[in-house]
Amino acid sequence: MIRAIRYSDIDTFRADRTAGSYLLRRTTPEGAPAGMAFFCPCGCGNESWMAFEGSGSPGSKWAFNGNLDNPTLHPSVHNTGMPCRWHGWLRDGYWEAC
Ligand SMILES: [Zn+2]
Repeated sequence: MIRAIRYSDIDTFRADRTAGSYLLRRTTPEGAPAGMAFFCPCGCGNESWMAFEGSGSPGSKWAFNGNLDNPTLHPSVHNTGMPCRWHGWLRDGYWEAC
């Protein structure tokens, strides 16, 4: 398992490019995060984005448990747009490959 490290500063986040790190971005009208930018847990260095349910974004959305530091998302994360095609889960702040 890989710890999902939370960043709040986008410049530091993108400078470090730490595998499995994430940054919650944008907010819904209710003030909740609208999604998560993250670096692939496999270490390939690719950044991706997951929109959360309730964000109003088109396309795939994930259910977020609301825990800012130890997030759980559902369903699983499948990086089909990346060469590595990493597939796994984010649970209680840890990434776990399938
Ligand atoms: Zn990867």
